[in-house]
Amino acid sequence: MSTSDAKPAIEGWFTTNTDAPALIGSRCTACSSYYFPIESTRCRNPYCGGSELEEVELSRTGKVWSVTSASYAPPKPFIADEPFQPFAIVAVELEKEKMVVLGRAKDGVNAKDLKAGDRVEVILERGYTDDEGDKLVWKFQPIQEEA
Ligand SMILES: [Zn+2]
Repeated sequence: MSTSDAKPAIEGWFTTNTDAPALIGSRCTACSSYYFPIESTRCRNPYCGGSELEEVELSRTGKVWSVTSASYAPPKPFIADEPFQPFAIVAVELEKEKMVVLGRAKDGVNAKDLKAGDRVEVILERGYTDDEGDKLVWKFQPIQEEA
């Protein structure tokens, strides 16, 4: 299925280069803390208090930290088709930032197919379809390690 004319479900949360998409976050220029989604007002590190945050593309890869199956529709930003089809939600520790972000697993990848420590990468895939057409969301796809 082509996703070329699909639009991002949420503007500004990820780059829309479908070959190598990345989540967009913020980095505090004072203490280098990372935030996703973008934090624009001030650093949330209580020992920092910095207020200069820059927009950065986060690592495209990371390690599975935990995985769960969503058997009911989760709250926003997860928007799902109706009727709801269960999918796996993965908590991934990003390679460089060591920050844990949540996302859906790629279509067809179930919670039982993933385990802590598995390497995954960010992809864009259809998240749901509304009156305007297909909407893209970021998902995590297992990386096939070279044998
Ligand atoms: Zn800071």
